[in-house]
Parts: sequence; C-alpha cells; structure tokens
Amino acid sequence: MSNFIAAPVLLRVAFHPAVVRLYCGPRIREEIHSTTAVDGLESGGYLFSAATGPLDELVSASGAGDRARRSVDAIGLEHAYIDELERELRRSNSGLVASGTWHSHPDSDPRPSDTDLQAWGAGLEIVEQRVGDGARFFGVIVTTPEWARGDWSYPEMHAFITRRDPISDIACERAEIEEV
Ligand SMILES: [Zn+2]
Repeated sequence: MSNFIAAPVLLRVAFHPAVVRLYCGPRIREEIHSTTAVDGLESGGYLFSAATGPLDELVSASGAGDRARRSVDAIGLEHAYIDELERELRRSNSGLVASGTWHSHPDSDPRPSDTDLQAWGAGLEIVEQRVGDGARFFGVIVTTPEWARGDWSYPEMHAFITRRDPISDIACERAEIEEV
C-alpha cells in the first residue's frame, strides 16, 4: 500500500494531564510538502494504534488518499478510503487499527473548528464500537510558524483527545505537548 507507512513511531500520546510526546514523522511531513505547502489547501490523513497495545499510543500515520476533498479550511476524508486501509491492515496482519486523524491548518490557527470537533466525536463513536469503555479518539492539527511564506519546513503539531464524559457527554481536551 503506497500511502501507508507502518514502521516508524509517529506519535506517543499520554492521556491528559500527562505530557504528550510528539514527533512529526516522515509520512506527515511528506504529505504536507506535496499538498499544503504547494497549494495552500488542507491536507490530512489517519492515525493508527496497535490493536492490542496501549490505547494512548499512536504508532503510524497515512495520507488522505487521492479522493479526499480539500479546501483552504476543510478536508473531507473519504470513508471508502479508511475502509480500504483497514481491510489492508487486517489482510496483512499488521495489528494496527485506526484511532484518530490529523490535518493541516493552512492559516496556522491551532484551534479545532466546529467541524473538527464534530468529526472527532463521530470518530470516537466508531472507536467505541470496537473497544467499548475507555475509547479515545486522537485529533492532531498541524501548523507552521512560517505560514505566511508557505514554508512548512518545521511543522508544529497540536494534539487533542476526544473521549466520553459522564457530564458533558463527549469531551475534547487539548493535550500538553513535549516535542521529541
Ligand atoms: Zn481543522
């Protein structure tokens, strides 16, 4: 599968309030450089965890696939594409399952949009069907301090964890980040 890298550890995320350790892996850099840095539109993709590993550890990332709908302030990740990826992961006995999404914000505003929050809530419900209680959905927003020049050489990552909350139903929290 050309749009998927299974080997390098991409992100290691610990549940709030613990520190999140983030490393912007080659897959995300490559995807941003061939998309957002060129046309100024959002790019993104999926994040994966080991099916039997810790729920708070992300081990790999994909791009969005060729059919994603991209604009300056949104990316429509296509369900058929993640279905394809997950089928491939099962077929190859990768032990990986989708556990979140990442996307770039070309204007470098690190705050999630209402659309992001809705999408992460929907993502949580899908993960819950698989793991039940304790499910989490990871959202990562990627920005650059040099957005005005369109320079994405040093992307910055902002992590959010969406989970079920007894009071507010679904809660989304910004995670603290330590760059590694
Ligand atoms: Zn967004």
